[in-house]
Amino acid sequence: MEFAYSARLAELKRRAGELTKQLMSYEDECERNGSLSEESRHHVKALALDSGLAAMNAPVDSGGAGLSWLEQVVVEEELGQLTNGLWAAVWRPTAAELLACTAAQREQYLIPEVRGLRFGGRAITEPAAGSDLRGIATTAVRTTKGYRINGEKWFVTLGDVADYFVLLAVTQPDNAPTMFLVDKDLPGVECIEVPRYTHQFAFAHPHFRFTDVEVGEDAVLGAVGEGLRLTQATFSEERIVLAAHAMGAAERALALASDWARERVQGGDRIIRHQLIQGMLADSAIDVAVNRTFVHRVAWEVDRQSDLKTLNAKVAMAKIAATEAAGRVADRAVQIFGGRGYLRANPVERIYRDVRLDRIWMGTSEVQRLVVANEIDKRGISTLVHFSGADRS
Ligand SMILES: Cc1cc2nc3c(=O)[nH]c(=O)nc-3n(C[C@H](O)[C@H](O)[C@H](O)COP(=O)(O)OP(=O)(O)OC[C@H]3O[C@@H](n4cnc5c(N)ncnc54)[C@H](O)[C@@H]3O)c2cc1C
Repeated sequence: MEFAYSARLAELKRRAGELTKQLMSYEDECERNGSLSEESRHHVKALALDSGLAAMNAPVDSGGAGLSWLEQVVVEEELGQLTNGLWAAVWRPTAAELLACTAAQREQYLIPEVRGLRFGGRAITEPAAGSDLRGIATTAVRTTKGYRINGEKWFVTLGDVADYFVLLAVTQPDNAPTMFLVDKDLPGVECIEVPRYTHQFAFAHPHFRFTDVEVGEDAVLGAVGEGLRLTQATFSEERIVLAAHAMGAAERALALASDWARERVQGGDRIIRHQLIQGMLADSAIDVAVNRTFVHRVAWEVDRQSDLKTLNAKVAMAKIAATEAAGRVADRAVQIFGGRGYLRANPVERIYRDVRLDRIWMGTSEVQRLVVANEIDKRGISTLVHFSGADRS
């Protein structure tokens, strides 16, 4: 067992830390205006490209950084310190694209995305299909030239800057869940709402309607009927990233709260000398240290096992544990700051709002618990609670 950063991981962490600091200077603008100006978007994109960390999940032969999962976790944890979703400025193609693009789709979508010339939004969720994707009502009907798509997609993150969607629809008449690459500028694609959310995010999460949108046969990503597998692959990847972000956010909140507790004097002493504050700081340090270790370990295991299916439950455990821990740490940080913790200018207040989402998107905590429980039912607890390679006889 080796728990130290290798020279390569330390270097990636340093590089990601530098990029994080540069992106942090855009937090106030984002909080004030609810998004970033065109000029700021241009700058953050240039910073992401210069760092060499954009499209870090894409293989080197497509121009990406080709980082392993452990490497990505180290980088994403640094980026997770950013409030207002500024980590999203360091874009990542979806796992679905990476797994299933044909040579032509690679040229048309993946490679331009890696270079920052085109962006994709994941259009999965619908009004009646959230946790349970069996409710997908967006249809793709066969035509002489390809498919005609009709339906509504909600909460499409980066939908404002996306050039295309990775969209889940059911082909007719057999209702086969299938992933499509759908250009946003096609006739019949319409943004129907840009809702406001609890957080102030650097990009938007709009709702879209698709009315008789005609796409060619070559718009199918992977095979007809393979849509749920590709969605699952995308979500598993995003869940580890989310867990890493949660740890970055939690560490920042704890660092700010502990600095404050060490200098703020009330009741005749620095508040860190008050035992109730000490308890909150100690619990938060435990939350960060324990969950960080587990998130790194799961990423390390993913790097060693090609069959992600058996690791889905571990990924779910990491997401639940890290995001719920981040919620507790952020809540305590606000409390330790007192009234100042409720000011929007204080990053802990923004972290408090930001991390709330992490228990909802990419699979709610409840549904992730079902994934863990199903694994226990199918294979027992052994795969979940042991290190891989341990003798379980
Ligand atoms: C800001 C934001 C950005 C998003 N970005 C995207 C995006 O880019 N692309 C995309 O496709 N989607 C996106 N989503 C959607 C997100 O993934 C869904 O909101 C999430 O999957 C939950 O679905 P739902 O909102 O329909 O809730 P529901 O599925 O309706 O769940 C409601 C409640 O019921 C619980 N529940 C549901 N099923 C069960 C069960 N079987 N057992 C126990 N409890 C259950 C849930 O845990 C939850 O508490 C985004 C959402 C938000 C808020």
